[in-house]
Amino acid sequence: MSYYAEPIARLLEELERLPGIGPKSAQRLAFHILKGDDEAARRLSDSIVEVRRLIHFCPRCFNFASGDLCEYCADPQRDTASMCVVEEPRDVVAIERTGEFRGLYHVLQGTISPMDGIGPEQLRVRELLSRLEDGSVTEVVVATNPNVEGETTALYLARLIKPLGIRVTRIASGLPVGGDLEYADEVTLGRALEARRDM
Ligand SMILES: [Zn+2]
Repeated sequence: MSYYAEPIARLLEELERLPGIGPKSAQRLAFHILKGDDEAARRLSDSIVEVRRLIHFCPRCFNFASGDLCEYCADPQRDTASMCVVEEPRDVVAIERTGEFRGLYHVLQGTISPMDGIGPEQLRVRELLSRLEDGSVTEVVVATNPNVEGETTALYLARLIKPLGIRVTRIASGLPVGGDLEYADEVTLGRALEARRDM
């Protein structure tokens, strides 16, 4: 039995599907929307529909993109000799916030996790290797998360890439072990990038 009118119950149900939103937060958000005007509600719902319609994966680096390429692949000012490999698009944002990296990105769209049946072939590893073929990238910075899956993925990539004569570095420890890049503050992550070491 629900204490809410059916349309409110339906909104609560959708909000609670979102990560980090429990019943209390869902209720707060729903009541906020109800108290606001029609225009505010329409802007919110339109922005959700539009982000799904307009955003796709960059065909080069697999970050989110609204144009043909993502903003980094399309930017001629980026240093094309270094490439930072991350797990997810949100990690690109975390690295950019540090202001310590000016190169290109490659988003694996996951991490090697035998427990979950995810191997290299489920990730964008083949696409990464083909981007390295022309020899313009001289350093690959592996910025996977500092947990078991992230380290396994980093070692796997180093074994594949080093024989190509490309320097492979790993962001320094000092990040909380088991933590995610996205939760590290800019200063800590910036230092981890600066103090990266050869693999
Ligand atoms: Zn891109």
